[in-house]
Amino acid sequence: MVVFTFAPTFSAWKTKARLALQQELSPQDVFWKEESSIDTFPDLFLGEESSEKQPAASAKTFRVPREFLTLGDVVACHRDPSRWDLLYRLVWRINHGEPHLLDHTPDPDVHDLLLKERAVSRDVHKMRAFIRFREVATDDGMWHVAWFEPQHHIVARNAPFFVERFASIKWSILTPDACAHWDRKELRISPGTTRDQAPAADAAEELWKTYYRAFFNPARLKPSMMRKEMSPYYWNNLPEAMLIPTLLAEAAGRTATMVAASQAKRTPELVESTPIRLPTKGDWPALKEAAESCRACPLWKNATCTVFGEGPLHARVLVVGEQPGDQEDLAGRPFVGPAGQLFDRALQTAGVPRDHLYVTNAVKHFKWTPQGKRRLHQKPTSREIAACRPWLTAEIDHVKPKLLVCLGSTAVHSVVGNGIKVTQDRGQTLPTEFGIPALIPVHPSSLLRQPDRSREAADFAAFVADLAKIQDFLSK
Ligand code: SF4
Repeated sequence: MVVFTFAPTFSAWKTKARLALQQELSPQDVFWKEESSIDTFPDLFLGEESSEKQPAASAKTFRVPREFLTLGDVVACHRDPSRWDLLYRLVWRINHGEPHLLDHTPDPDVHDLLLKERAVSRDVHKMRAFIRFREVATDDGMWHVAWFEPQHHIVARNAPFFVERFASIKWSILTPDACAHWDRKELRISPGTTRDQAPAADAAEELWKTYYRAFFNPARLKPSMMRKEMSPYYWNNLPEAMLIPTLLAEAAGRTATMVAASQAKRTPELVESTPIRLPTKGDWPALKEAAESCRACPLWKNATCTVFGEGPLHARVLVVGEQPGDQEDLAGRPFVGPAGQLFDRALQTAGVPRDHLYVTNAVKHFKWTPQGKRRLHQKPTSREIAACRPWLTAEIDHVKPKLLVCLGSTAVHSVVGNGIKVTQDRGQTLPTEFGIPALIPVHPSSLLRQPDRSREAADFAAFVADLAKIQDFLSK
């Protein structure tokens, strides 16, 4: 057994792993010993060890897929001490006859890697969402201090986000593992501390509670989802958490507009993207659950939730819209806003029962921009459509419909491809790479945007005529 001692960084571990591979040490022959338990610092804060010999220039080189490096960098922050064994086992197997190991998601090691990656990413997100600063007067002026208890070693990983977000104030984030400090010039990481070092409630907290009370919207609050997303583990750090039961009772009639007003003030955040990893084929609930934590493009940042498809899982017709709108984003369901209601009316007129259709969107998160108190829809980019396409493909693979109905240009772009103009091809049935024909009506929102009122009835009739073609496929 060879013991490798290293600073708990992915980079330091990679150096040692390279040495272990050079010596042909199998995973059973290696013991990974962390040098420090402060936190998993990125290289920004700690240098790598220099005492170990580097592999000679002529030494055998080893390859790992770029994806392993991305995932490993995240998994290195997991609290499980066995993560280093796991990483070495994977890198060993990749270099000993299994170069495509990461593509085999049912493999126990790959599965464990992905679970750990998801757990760390989720913790990173929770920290960003649930940090609450309290003001403290110091000799150095006003300082903002927050206490947080991360589940993994994420403080150093997350600190640059807070620097970006709160560049103009001096702050410290205290945790049991490590603390991050920003004095408006330099970011420092220090060892962890105890909760009693964090300040108690201050005036700013009362202000925040007032703000939260004013903008609280129960339409966005699903208590069961809330417990799942914001486990009581984090509630201790949230001054507003104690208000929720009262607010739920008091604020039942408030509108989503109030939420939009609060969100309009949000500043752009750092964006992270993680490649989509689809769960085992055929497992629709797992697919839906996996999509809930998708981070493959920036759109999840400003949306309330992933809006996945719904309807019979063996529907003969699968309808694809563009993306969730404001109301769909709040409700977590597709096609429930004004365009969805118009779609329902048109289906009814065309004699097509909606509950026979599986409905979904090409892009699963709401893309919007604030305008006054409203959240204005923004068209997804080609990159965002492409990033989200694996989810749509998985839905189509699972439902295996006889007909795809593409509502609007984004859906056409995702399902049929570029170069199709809805205005030219509407009402047509086009071939797709899925081997399933795609019907091209307009998107119902285009009817809502029609400025010429005299054309409303004719447009609606044309839309109904397009949708009536669905009937042929329901009975096939
Ligand atoms: S829009 Fe699609 S790809 Fe982008 S984060 Fe949401 S689910 Fe993932």
